[in-house]
This record gives sequence, structure tokens and C-alpha cells, in this order.
Amino acid sequence: MNVYRQKVFVLTGALALTALLVGALTLPHLQQHYLREQAEDDTQLLHLAKQSLQAALERYAPLPALIAERPSLGQLLENPDTPALAATVNEDLRQTAAMVHASDVFLMDITGRTIAAATYQDDGSYVGRNFSHQTYFTNALYGALSSFQVSGTTTGERGYFYAAPVEVGDRIVGVLAIKFNIEAFNSVWNGASREFIVSDTNGFVLMSSRPDWHFRAMRPLTDATRRVIAQNLQYPIDRIELLPITTEDLSDTAQRVTITGDTTDSFVMTFVTLPQRGWTMTALQSTAPALLTAVTTLLMIGLIVLLLIAALLSYLLKQARQKEALISEQRAKRLLETTVSQRTADLQKALEHLKNTQTDLIQAGKLSGLGQMSAALSHEFNQPLAAVKTYADNARAFLDRDRVAEARDNIDRISKMADRMASISAHLRNFARRPQQATGPLLLNKVVHDALAVIDVRLASGAGRIDYTAPIDDVYVTGGHVRLQQVIVNMLNNALDAMEGQTDPLVTLTVSGHSIVVRDRGPGVDAATADQMFDPFFTTKPPGKGLGLGLSISYNIVTDFGGTMTAANHPDGGAVFTVTLQPATPLREAAE
Ligand code: ADP
Repeated sequence: MNVYRQKVFVLTGALALTALLVGALTLPHLQQHYLREQAEDDTQLLHLAKQSLQAALERYAPLPALIAERPSLGQLLENPDTPALAATVNEDLRQTAAMVHASDVFLMDITGRTIAAATYQDDGSYVGRNFSHQTYFTNALYGALSSFQVSGTTTGERGYFYAAPVEVGDRIVGVLAIKFNIEAFNSVWNGASREFIVSDTNGFVLMSSRPDWHFRAMRPLTDATRRVIAQNLQYPIDRIELLPITTEDLSDTAQRVTITGDTTDSFVMTFVTLPQRGWTMTALQSTAPALLTAVTTLLMIGLIVLLLIAALLSYLLKQARQKEALISEQRAKRLLETTVSQRTADLQKALEHLKNTQTDLIQAGKLSGLGQMSAALSHEFNQPLAAVKTYADNARAFLDRDRVAEARDNIDRISKMADRMASISAHLRNFARRPQQATGPLLLNKVVHDALAVIDVRLASGAGRIDYTAPIDDVYVTGGHVRLQQVIVNMLNNALDAMEGQTDPLVTLTVSGHSIVVRDRGPGVDAATADQMFDPFFTTKPPGKGLGLGLSISYNIVTDFGGTMTAANHPDGGAVFTVTLQPATPLREAAE
């Protein structure tokens, strides 16, 4: 893994970590947001519940006044010690209670003493008990048509009381009260997935969807409140204890609360007030859904962020791969470039070396040529010079003795030797100077014929035979007559030299196309000789026999004509020399 890749992984890791951190930090805020939303829903729900609770409470309000109008009640109140009448009223109230599903319907005299009740037959019946301390009683006594009270002091059952004065003429003679079990109103929140609390001015829980919260206080009691309650016996004072609530504001109308009980529950709390009664209706909804929504939302966002990071990662990795590929490509290119320049330098060196070697070789070749030449020349000239010296000494001696004839003979020999040396030097001059002579179309047949005429002298002395069949057609080639003749003579002489000592030396001369082929039956040409035989002054012949210039001169002549000269060994033994010339159209013989 390279540095860039490492960077990419660190970067994406850091991004993921940051996202995680941001998520963790955001969670509480997001939950708050959803809690507030929940609270808004609850506020609306609460308004509905409040309306139905009010409607339910008001439905029964006219009832006590209606019942109070019955004449039997007034009669009994005026004649309390009439058992028959009491029995009738008791029974009447029992039936009424059954009809309106009230817990109790009871009649009190103006002192607050109960003189008849629907539950007259039951244990703990209100009959004989005094309720003068209850607000509903006092309110009714002072002329209020209906009143209410929530109480649980007597039976422990939470009751809701309506009361109305019983009048005879203009006089109030008693109070009729109806008690409903407060459970009857619970229906307003039935089915809602929230907890409800209805509390009074003092913060006492009158009603609640949670039975364990009944008669608990939502806020601490002041001593004054305590005294009032003790006086009124409105609530079972001994059962009042604080509901362990801790709150935290969510918004103006909502709070987040934790209620500790058998279990610790966390809620969003919203409330509405029922101003006529001084009540507060509270809805408590579990915070779990908000938390769940917040977590789900965060998870969704997290998933999207994760996908984005994954996409980013894959993009960056692709970049990294491309970068790597580019780098390795550049590296390969650089390597190739250095290799190429190295190789070029090597080649340059090799070339220089080759040139030097070539120069050395040329120098060496020159020197060896010079050596060969001086050896050949010194031999060619020394022998006649030695002879000249001898002849001159002899001539002097003969002249001293006046033997003029002998002296002349020796001087003649000296003259011949001088001629011979002159001929050798002419030969050398020919080689050194390559005079630019004209070339043109030649009748090959005639050149061969003239060459054979020259060699005839040597054949006549028994040097060998030449097998030649002249071509039927005339063959024209490009060249110079005398020089080409010299080439053919030289090839024939070499062939005869190669077979010297054989019993019947035979040379085969052929004209084939524009080629002249000379084949002998001598030893052939070995590789070492073949390499050098066209060089000037190269000879394998004994001193005095050859100068080593024949093939060199011939080769240059043929090349001048635009032709080629090659040597090979015949499969049946002997050397084969081939001269191939340029074909030519006959105009006239080249003048030479
Ligand atoms: P020279 O005849 O004076 O030696 P040339 O240049 O004619 O000079 O020949 C060079 C050499 O080539 C000879 O010395 C000989 O070794 C070799 N050579 C030429 N012709 C033949 C041949 N027909 N067979 C074998 N060797 C030959």
C-alpha cells in the first residue's frame, strides 16, 4: 500500500469517525425536536379531551335540581321522623340512582345530616352522616343550583358530587346531592396511547389513567393548603404524597418529565387548564417513540453518509490506482530512456572502437603491404643487380687483359639485366598509376582469341593444354580490349602455375553468357589464400616466380569495367575463377 492509499484510508476513516461523533452529538437535539413534535400532537389531543371531559361533567349538572323538585323530599325534610315517608324517599332515590348510573343520590337537611340515600341498605351508607363541611353542600345551601366536589374521604372511592338546594316555597330546607364514581369520566381518554392526569388547583391528582397516581400531589404542599384540606376532608390527607417528578422544559407548553415509581418512566408532558374549575389536564406520552424516531432518522442519515463515504472512498481509490499506473508508466518510460541512452552510448563506444580497429587494421595492412612489396622488390632487383655487378667486374677484368670480345659479351648481359629491371619497374608503374582508359562494347570472342594467342608460346613449351570451345554467337561486353586480354592471360597463367609438375595439365576455358570461367585441376584455393589473394604483392609462389600483383591488377580492371571477379573451388578439385562483365550493344570497338 502506498502513501497516497494510506492517506485515502485515513481520510475516509476520519470522515466516518467525524460522522459518528456528529451523529452522537446530534442525537439529543434530534430527540428534543421529535419530543416537541410529539408535544404538539398531544396539545391538540388534550384540547379534545378537555372538551369531552367538560361536556361529560356538565351533562349531569342539571340532574340534582330536577330531582330536588320532587315534593316527597320537601315533605320528608319537614317531617324527618316519619319512617314510612323516609322508606318511600329512600326507595325513590335508589331507583333514580340506578336509572342515572349514579353511585349514590342522597338527601341532607340544612345541618348537613343525611336523612335519606339511595344506598340506604348498604353497609357504610351515608344515612345519618353529616356532610356540612363539604363545599358542594355549602354551595347548594347558599342557593347554587349545582355544584361539585371530588372526594374520597368516606368510602375511599373517588366520587364526583353534584348538589342542589331542596326548597319548600321560598325556603331552602335541605340539599340533594348525587355522587358519580369518577371512573365514569375516564372514557374521555380511553383508547389514547398516553397517560392522563386531571389535577386541581393544588396540584392534586383527581383523575388519572394510572391508578397509582390517584390522590398524589404534583407539587409540594404548603402548610396552608394542608390545613384547608384537613378542614374540608376533601381528600384522604393521609394518602397524599408527592409524585416524584423531575421536569425539564422542552418549550413554552411542553416539558420532559421523569416520574419515579415502581418503574422510572420518561414522558413528554403537555397540559391544558380548565379555568372554570381551576383544573389542569395533563397528557404524558412516553419519550420512547421520539427517541426511536431520532435514532431511526440518524441511522438513515448515517446510512446515506456511509454510502457517500463509500462512494468517495471508491472514487479516491480509483484516483490512487490511476496515479500509481501513471507513476509506474513514467518509471518504465524513464527506465527505457536510460536504457536506450546507455545502449546508444555503448554503441557509440563500440563504433569508435571499431573505427580505431579499422584504422589500426588499415595501418597494419599498409605496413604488411609495404613489407611484402619491399621483399618482392628487393628480390626482383637484388638478383639482377648482383648479376650486373658480376658482369661489370668480369668486363673490367676482360678489358684489362684486352679481351674485348668477352668484355662486350658481359656488357651486353649488363644491358639485358637493365632491360629486365626496367620491365619490372614498368610493371610497378602500371600498378601504381591506374590510367583512366576508355571502355566500350567489346566482342568477347575476339579478346579471348587474342589472349589464347599470347599464351600459346607457353603452351608450346609444354606447360599444358587449354580446352576452349568458342561460343557460336558473338558476345559483346563492356570493357577495354588490351586490359581484358591481360586479365584472361593472367588467369590462364595462374591456372598453369597451379598445375606445374602435373603430367598433363588441363585448363578449361568457358564463355558462358557474359562470364569468362577458367578452371584448373591444381590444389585449389585454401581459406587463408582466398582472403588475401586479391591483395597487391600477395603471393605463395617461390621468389622470382611471382610479384603477387596479377590478381590485384585484374580485380581492379574488372571492377573498372563494372564487372565482378570471384574465385571458388571446383567440387572435383582445382580452382575456378569467374569474371562476369556488363553486357554491351555493338557499335564499334573501343579504340585503345
Ligand atoms: P602471382 O601469380 O605473382 O603469385 P597473383 O596475384 O596472380 O600473383 O596470384 C596471387 C596468388 O594467388 C598466387 O600466389 C597463388 O597463391 C594464388 N593463385 C592464383 N591463381 C591460382 C590458381 N589458379 N590456383 C591456386 N592458387 C592460385
